[in-house]
Amino acid sequence: METRLNDNLLPLDQLMQHETPFYFYDLDLLRATISHINELTASHNAIVHYAVKANGNPRILKEIAAAGLGADVVSGGEIIAALDAGFSPGKITFAGVGKTDREIKLGLEHEIGCFNVESVPELEVISQLATEMGKTANVALRVNPDIDAHTHRFITTATADNKFGIAIEFLPQVVKRAHALPGINLRGLHFHLGSQITVMRPYQMLCETINRLLDDFEHDGTTFEIINVGGGLGIDYADPDAHPIADFEQFFATFHHHLNLRQGQQLHFELGRSIVGQCGSLIARATYVKHNRNKQFVILDAGMTDLIRPALYDAHHKIENLSSRSSERATYDVVGPVCESSDTFAHDCSLPTTQRGDLIAIRSAGAYGESMASTYNMRRLPQAVFSI
Ligand SMILES: *Cc1c(COP(=O)(O)O)cnc(C)c1O
Repeated sequence: METRLNDNLLPLDQLMQHETPFYFYDLDLLRATISHINELTASHNAIVHYAVKANGNPRILKEIAAAGLGADVVSGGEIIAALDAGFSPGKITFAGVGKTDREIKLGLEHEIGCFNVESVPELEVISQLATEMGKTANVALRVNPDIDAHTHRFITTATADNKFGIAIEFLPQVVKRAHALPGINLRGLHFHLGSQITVMRPYQMLCETINRLLDDFEHDGTTFEIINVGGGLGIDYADPDAHPIADFEQFFATFHHHLNLRQGQQLHFELGRSIVGQCGSLIARATYVKHNRNKQFVILDAGMTDLIRPALYDAHHKIENLSSRSSERATYDVVGPVCESSDTFAHDCSLPTTQRGDLIAIRSAGAYGESMASTYNMRRLPQAVFSI
């Protein structure tokens, strides 16, 4: 698939009419990505929940809800956004280590499909609130599988010493506790390894861990209706045009081949980045091109307030000059206007010779871009523009 940014969907002169910076979303690519996911999962007893935190833009949420996916939310605000976008409450799962009483009640009120619970105290609070409301809460226990994929710089959440989930050795007693609590309907187990995972080995290890767990529980007569394996599938930040759609085939096949699901068991996924990452670009203008002793800088009107990933995780995004007609190239540091040295999008980036006013695209910015934007420096939040 060729680049969608410059093709007929969005002629440059049309892009030029919008005030920068803004996010441009290619809805065709989003739809193609979701259809691909739906095709791959159709024949299995699988539900994909979209991780709303990756991008909560209402238009994007509507597209994803309309395609039949569920929603994975991490706050009361995201529950409301998901409901507003048309996700059915039964397909909403609510994750997070610190759900407040107000957020739990909101989930119970709307009878969401599942609370992914991370501790015994949380389990007890949910049971109590549910009982008070005359309801039972659907629950999956988030297990910390203690798997470190050792993948370069991926954001890990599943090693023994981080805050997420319940340690495997505590699981049997937590399951017992869940079964004993009056307001809890224990439906399943939940796992999530981390983010931007591009090799399948950690997922394979996860499958082996889950298989062992299910065997052990079955010995004691305990079965689970849902196995939720989380998300984290990575995308190609270096070359988005070579891989506009993530390798879902390999991802789903890994679970298909390595996970021993029991009869009737549902397999749940929670994918964020891989669904929306490649459909978004941050579009900015070069405000100044500045020459210092050893470096040239392109200073954009977009900054870390619009896209914080480079500043926060040292993340790499491909940068393109959309309007330069120059055949010569130069090396620039591409930076934002915010008063922080970390407000840098790229070091030593090769671009066509760039001038004030040129339109610049920062690619693969659909996930954890707009959703992490802030108004630091009293800047405006970036706007969103959609392909037709
Ligand atoms: C953030 C998150 C996801 C989605 O992660 P991606 O890397 O965007 O796929 C899924 N599950 C949980 C519990 C999360 O916190």
